[in-house]
Amino acid sequence: MAPIDNTEYDYDLVVIGGGSGGLAASKEAASLGKKVCMLDFVTPTPRGISWGVGGTCVNVGCIPKKLMHHASLIGGEIEDAHFFGWQSKNGEPLKDNLKHDWSTLVTYVQNNIKGSNFSYRALLATQQVKYLNAYGTFVEPNKLRIVYKNSKEEFVTSRHFIIATGERPVYPNDCEGAEQYAITSDDLFSLPYSPGRTLVVGASYVALECAGFLRGLGYDVSVMVRSIVLRGFDRQCSEHVRNYMENYEHVKFIDRCVMKKIEEVRESKNGEAPLLRATYRHLESGEEFTDEFNTVMFAIGRKPCTDNIGLDVAGVELDSKGYIPVVNEQTNVPHIYAIGDVLQGKPQLTPVAIEAGVLLARRLYNDHNVNCDYINVPTTVFTPIEYGCCGYTEEEAIDKFGADDIEVYHQYFTPTEWKLNYYDRPRKPMNVCYAKVITTRSKDGDPRKETLLGFHFVGPNAGEVIQFTPFPLKMKATKADLDALIGIHPTCAEIFTMLPISKRSGKEATQQGCCG
Ligand code: FAD
Ligand code: NDP
Repeated sequence: MAPIDNTEYDYDLVVIGGGSGGLAASKEAASLGKKVCMLDFVTPTPRGISWGVGGTCVNVGCIPKKLMHHASLIGGEIEDAHFFGWQSKNGEPLKDNLKHDWSTLVTYVQNNIKGSNFSYRALLATQQVKYLNAYGTFVEPNKLRIVYKNSKEEFVTSRHFIIATGERPVYPNDCEGAEQYAITSDDLFSLPYSPGRTLVVGASYVALECAGFLRGLGYDVSVMVRSIVLRGFDRQCSEHVRNYMENYEHVKFIDRCVMKKIEEVRESKNGEAPLLRATYRHLESGEEFTDEFNTVMFAIGRKPCTDNIGLDVAGVELDSKGYIPVVNEQTNVPHIYAIGDVLQGKPQLTPVAIEAGVLLARRLYNDHNVNCDYINVPTTVFTPIEYGCCGYTEEEAIDKFGADDIEVYHQYFTPTEWKLNYYDRPRKPMNVCYAKVITTRSKDGDPRKETLLGFHFVGPNAGEVIQFTPFPLKMKATKADLDALIGIHPTCAEIFTMLPISKRSGKEATQQGCCG
């Protein structure tokens, strides 16, 4: 914690950034009786898009993404409704009368976002947090210059600061026309025209999730993969997600290629998407290809917003990529803290930013000593078939313990709801869902000696299924503890209570019956 400082400041705490982490820290500090100011300012995208208070999650991240993902799943459910007896009033299958309207979806999603922006402003006011819609830059270690949209400038001083400025998507610097003609996820959720034929460049969370819901809404979607999909995730599960998207959703994958040039063939007008010509290059052969798309979206990673906020003046150290190294959220400057996506080497997820912000405020302003635990953080990729996980991947477990000293239990399965006329339902085939649990290995096969290391689940509602798996991991529970659980039937999550087959056994891991 920072040394005692008796100087008079305008505030006890100024939080720079009003996203998930900044909001949580500000409200918690104010609830503990501190005088708090929170700044939030959105620099518009190259296409001029900006949004209200709340940061990435609520405006251009988790929330609009989940709503659009849900919109695409609804389409799939309507396709299947026929087998459950639903039809149009004149007896036709609903799927034959189905059309998606992008502008309706965007309107409702944006209304929802504006409602959240309003609630945040109201909550900040009732909780006595001074909210300023202004951009903050350090001019001294305890002083910020704040600039409003109308260029008005003021200065505020504070005893403590929390940097919670998040990240923004990047454009490649070696693709002509990228910033001019392509969009990023910051533009997608309010895109004023139906995206049409879409190329998504990148192959991680953002890319696959956006490609997935766009395809589910009916668009022709291609994904350009530079190396592998979902780097950092379990390889088998990542490839499974990709294969599902490719084989059952018909997303096209363009492998081992990078973008070279984007040109405009026809500009966007009258609410219609533009037509763009994309030139891309194969990494090994060097061969160039050209194709036309209505939308090109870069999802090639994000950059921390730490380069234009005077951190050099404040003396805050950054790593080579601009992330802030911290020890328990404290930077190298004792009175300056950081939380959320700007942190070096921490999971970049909303609940992580919130937890870190709340616990930091309690440690600073209350007699509290609990630190944020960044280990065993669960996550879910909301692709057409969702993938949730927590703990070690199979590769990480092999690296750490050796292939001989881990056990991998697994099972393919089919959700009950997918079992009606599955042969007529090409998007929901049998045995395409998958569960895998990684444990340490007991050489005598005693599950009481097999400590749980990781949970992986590919199937519907993966986030709901995976949510409580950090608990047994944190408690260092064993495979025997897991086996002792009684499932809730018929659910997908019950699969984790019935995993007798290890990969090592070589036994068939597809499911045959369903109830015993
Ligand atoms: P942010 O929420 O990014 O907030 C930072 C705020 O600070 C922004 O409003 C920014 O404009 C503002 N700011 C920056 N500089 C200044 C300055 N100098 N002065 C004033 N204000 C400033 N996470 C999940 O857990 N689940 C998901 O499903 C999920 N989906 C995602 C989908 C997408 C498309 C994206 C892009 C991200 C997703 N994430 C998801 C990640 C999640 O959104 C982030 O981890 C989270 O928002 C980080 O919170 P933060 O407080 O660190 O930063
Ligand atoms: P990532 O940094 O995880 O991935 C970037 C992707 O872009 C990789 O596939 C990378 O490929 C590729 N790439 C990088 N540069 C290029 C290039 N020049 N040309 C082509 N491809 C390129 O970024 P994301 O934006 O997907 O995610 C950022 C973070 O946001 C995540 O770590 C996650 O924490 C959070 N998030 C969480 C979500 C959730 O919880 N559901 C959803 C979305 C985001 P390569 O592997 O070859 O480097």
